[in-house]
Amino acid sequence: MNRGIFLDRDGVINQIVYHQDMGILDTPFHPSQFELLPGVDKALTKINRLGFKAVLVSNQPGVAKRHLSLKNFWKIDQKMNKELAKKKVSLDGVYYCLHHPQGGDKRFKKICNCRKPKPGLILKASKEMGIDPKSSYLIGDSLTDIQAGKSAGCTTFLLGNHKCDLCKLMEEKKTRPDFMAENLYQAVKLIENIETKRG
Ligand SMILES: [Zn+2]
Repeated sequence: MNRGIFLDRDGVINQIVYHQDMGILDTPFHPSQFELLPGVDKALTKINRLGFKAVLVSNQPGVAKRHLSLKNFWKIDQKMNKELAKKKVSLDGVYYCLHHPQGGDKRFKKICNCRKPKPGLILKASKEMGIDPKSSYLIGDSLTDIQAGKSAGCTTFLLGNHKCDLCKLMEEKKTRPDFMAENLYQAVKLIENIETKRG
């Protein structure tokens, strides 16, 4: 069976965007706002070199919430793949949940099983790619990522700064990541250490 490293997108692969007009931090609403984070190419190279599949698993309710059109959503996906290709790396799998339970766009208004914190998207990717989630990792920047990863049986990494903005929420939700790291590359280097020790 394959092993995977499941990755959230916004805040892990690309910058979170401050939308000044709405006063919110969110996903890019337009391809021009999509910007890769530094070190993502090195991280993806290392993931494959360690023998893992790099698999994106991302909640993208922006279309459901009418923040952006479906056309622009796929243009952003295209830009991500193009930017990665420019750096000679790629993702082995890309899985999105476009649903939202209160979506204004009826096409995507749904209580689904793929929206994190549910593990559905990770389990679907695992099934389709022959991955054993229990011997896999998940790297995300929110507690919903961690909850989804834990439910699927993955070892989890939470990205964030050391001030731990999420510590209080961890108490409330009784969810803790297995590890914390500053960014994607740091997390993958930690995985390399874990794997080396395991032999
Ligand atoms: Zn879904």
